[in-house]
Amino acid sequence: MRVSVLGVGIDALTMAEAVERVAGFVKSGGPHRVITLNPEFLYRARFDGRLLALVRRADLVTADGVGIVWACRMAGRPVPERVTGIDLMLSLVERAAAEGWRVYLLGAAPGVAEEAAKRLILHYPGLTVAGVHHGYFREDEEAAVAGLVRKARADLLFVALGAPKQEIWMDRYLEETGAAAAVGVGGSFDVIAG
Ligand code: UDP
Repeated sequence: MRVSVLGVGIDALTMAEAVERVAGFVKSGGPHRVITLNPEFLYRARFDGRLLALVRRADLVTADGVGIVWACRMAGRPVPERVTGIDLMLSLVERAAAEGWRVYLLGAAPGVAEEAAKRLILHYPGLTVAGVHHGYFREDEEAAVAGLVRKARADLLFVALGAPKQEIWMDRYLEETGAAAAVGVGGSFDVIAG
């Protein structure tokens, strides 16, 4: 079920249900875009038609942030729980290790995605990291970065460029990466790398 808050549809799902949705995306093939929506993004989207349009195009929009959960409750359509970028990423990585999906980590400062990948592999044995790339590339390098992800044959792409940069990049380039699904995860790589 989708809950409409300020003109944006939010999927009323538990974490487990969100993971199942993404599993379905990977099985059916891409491209599918996942946005973990926080109040700042929702606020900006109200005044920025481009952001509003890309949230509306997204295949899955989760309620990230108590403010969003609260707004859904006020609208009379409560969502079951908060589904944050970091929690969704970790649940999906666990599933990826079990299913053999190839994951790609794109974003954060040079070296951070590598360190995050190392720690994830230690924690989730059997995880296949198809590749990593930092998030400080120029605009004229964006397409080349999408090409690198394509070469790595990633199934599931985590994009950590901060909001809304990551959502704009996913909207424009996910198709070119060939990945079945991409999730914008904000500062998650920094958290995982420690
Ligand atoms: N980042 C990046 N490229 C940029 C700007 C930011 O890779 O051009 C990274 C940054 O290093 C950090 C993440 O994006 O790892 C943003 O984290 P933040 O917590 O600020 O994101 P938010 O949760 O606000 O989306």
